[in-house]
Amino acid sequence: MKWACPFCGHIQTITHPKYSQKEFAFEIEGVPNGPFGLRGTAIGCSNPECSHMQIDVEVVEARRNTHGIYSVPYGCATITRLCITPESSARPQPSYIPLALVEDYNEACRIRDLSPKAAATLARRCIQGMIRDFAGVKGRTLYDEITALKMMVEKDEAPRGVSIESVEAIDHIRSIGNIGAHMEKDIDLIIPVEPEEAQVLIELIESLFEEWYIERYRRQQRFAAINNIASEKAALKLLPTSQSRE
Ligand SMILES: [Zn+2]
Repeated sequence: MKWACPFCGHIQTITHPKYSQKEFAFEIEGVPNGPFGLRGTAIGCSNPECSHMQIDVEVVEARRNTHGIYSVPYGCATITRLCITPESSARPQPSYIPLALVEDYNEACRIRDLSPKAAATLARRCIQGMIRDFAGVKGRTLYDEITALKMMVEKDEAPRGVSIESVEAIDHIRSIGNIGAHMEKDIDLIIPVEPEEAQVLIELIESLFEEWYIERYRRQQRFAAINNIASEKAALKLLPTSQSRE
């Protein structure tokens, strides 16, 4: 079975020592919608730099046989499932992304299903924070800021990494129901939102983290490595050589 670790993103094949599942049935008589059981599943990450464990719990349909023995049969239906750890679908983000942005993102992921409107409010604030921090744009409303950023990209004045595709992706959220309708108002205004709309915003944040902050960091690392090689070569040229044939 293929599995992507929710902590580090590493895709791996799960094998027995890293996978464990236990289940049991509650022995309760006479409940109209029962009997029920619990199934717990734990998967350990085989990436040595991660080694985290995902744990989830399911409430499942159980059975009572003619001898009065309760069991969870193979292939029984899942009634509800809860991931214990990690507690949300938030992907781990590097430490060079501003903490306030990562906190808004993490919290939006945690509450997406419980409160999509609170998740969308946090996600909008996170997107606005990114536009302000990364692109240095500050306007009265998120709508104004997106418009200003779009103009910067069109005039080729936006910071490196801000592509027309990423700005168009931000711009597309204007077309999403209530989110778009309220972009000209206060960012902290809480608006009715569907879970899918909140999820679109969360995925947009993930794309922007990747295309703006992570890509900028990789570029800086690449140039730093090139500069180091150049400095080493320059230093070598200055060294006296004993094997000189001249
Ligand atoms: Zn992992």
